[in-house]
Amino acid sequence: MEPQAPITITIVGGGTAGWMTAAALGRFLGKQASITLVESDDIGTVGVGEATIPHIKIFNDALGIDEAEFVAATGATYKLGIAFEGWGAPDDAYVHAFGQVGRGIGLLPFHQFWLRGRNLGVAKPLGHYILNTIVLAGNRFAHVEREPGNPLPPIPYAFHFDAGLYARFLRGFAERHGVTRVEGKIVAVSRDPSNGDIAALTLADGTQVGGHLFIDCSGFRGLLIEQELEAGFEDWTRWLPCDRACAVPSESTDPLTPYTRAMAHPAGWQWRIPLQHRTGNGIVYSSAFLDDQRAADRLVANLDGRPLADPRTLRFTTGRRARAWVRNVVAIGLSAGFIEPLESTSIHLIQTAINRLLELVPRWPIHAGARDDYNARTAREMEAVRDFIILHYHANGRTGEPFWDGLRTMPIPDSLAHRIELFRSDAAIFPGNDELFDQRGWVQVLIGQGVVPERYHPIADELPESELRRFLDLTEQAYVQDASRIPDHRAYVQKFAPMR
Ligand code: FAD
Repeated sequence: MEPQAPITITIVGGGTAGWMTAAALGRFLGKQASITLVESDDIGTVGVGEATIPHIKIFNDALGIDEAEFVAATGATYKLGIAFEGWGAPDDAYVHAFGQVGRGIGLLPFHQFWLRGRNLGVAKPLGHYILNTIVLAGNRFAHVEREPGNPLPPIPYAFHFDAGLYARFLRGFAERHGVTRVEGKIVAVSRDPSNGDIAALTLADGTQVGGHLFIDCSGFRGLLIEQELEAGFEDWTRWLPCDRACAVPSESTDPLTPYTRAMAHPAGWQWRIPLQHRTGNGIVYSSAFLDDQRAADRLVANLDGRPLADPRTLRFTTGRRARAWVRNVVAIGLSAGFIEPLESTSIHLIQTAINRLLELVPRWPIHAGARDDYNARTAREMEAVRDFIILHYHANGRTGEPFWDGLRTMPIPDSLAHRIELFRSDAAIFPGNDELFDQRGWVQVLIGQGVVPERYHPIADELPESELRRFLDLTEQAYVQDASRIPDHRAYVQKFAPMR
């Protein structure tokens, strides 16, 4: 279809992906785009997806969303990191916290000094030198503003929220920014015979919805990108064999933890995500090692509040769409691929896809090479997240359990094998530009999972031993003292933005 300005954009699907896309395009494209979103109440949404990472705040802030309004509308709580329980070994735990790991000296990152301290037997576990880990252990939270020159690190945060309420909240926002919502089930797709592009969607009641650009946010089914355009799927099950999840909400309990829990079990792991009004729980597992009924029983037996609904089983295949953008269709959300929620990355991948798209639209048609660049960047980003998730499984210390034994001994992607090797040898990590997780995340997970380097950077030896001890002690003391001034998480949320 040859466009006249404004570009006509049709979004298929009203889950988190559809409404995040609609909200952002509506807000930023203004009158340069005419945007329609089609969703089907009969089909519904995946309905899970409650834990995020700090980048979500950039998204909400960019849209101009007031944080208190958002927290109250979505029953949100604050998240400072993830506690991994039983991953290194069944009775082990560590935290992957957001933010700074200790304090570096000069150009040398903190973990190099910590490793030397560990070799000397004077360093405590790494989490003792991470402010967010200390704050979350006390179940505390507050927005902390630092004066310029204050050497204490910031306290970056993300949210736990009710995904259904977030989609509803964004729907209101998008509609106020000119997005038109059409309710109905898409039953047919027609193509432009001249170039093979998608021309229009037909709904069950016969309504036709056209567009220059279609954004496929239809979830796992990939209605346009796969069912119509056969983009292909790269399956990562050989590295990430979990293919099922079972979810159940339970009553909210105290304390209101400002962190997600990821508890390993013999065939996968269980999440616990506290919201203001309930706790989200789910068990992720491999169907080759655990059947659905036993998974549901295990989940319900391991709740810390009364269940509020029946457990719901979801099936998935981990991997990415071979091409996220084909012809005039861009897949965003689950239609573009899925990596299990261990590090809460899916909603973030929606956000970065929207960013990439906004670099190109509302120009239409786009430059012929743009699609390939878009697809290459999407692939690199997802592969880096994949490697990070595989690390959690591969570097496990749960010997004697077939699921975990297999993961520990499996061949892993070369990119990850190289990174582990380099860290083990020289304590060095070089994440690339397209990578979501930087050195701070990798260091916490590698060390947390028991990948401890053989040697540290020689410059760390320049610090006399007595000064190294003092440096470690003072770092910890300053963080403990700072954390002690932060209020209780639930008390703070109830004051700042109680759920409406
Ligand atoms: P969906 O929610 O499935 O929405 C699809 C939409 O398409 C619906 O509106 C549906 O009605 C519409 N649709 C489909 N077919 C048609 C049709 N024929 N006609 C009309 N409409 C149609 N992410 C995180 O960031 N953090 C987490 O903690 C997290 N946990 C997760 C746990 C599990 C078990 C799973 C499976 C995912 C999790 N995710 C998480 C991912 C997160 O849920 C998704 O990324 C997010 O919800 C986006 O989903 P979606 O909008 O792509 O798809």
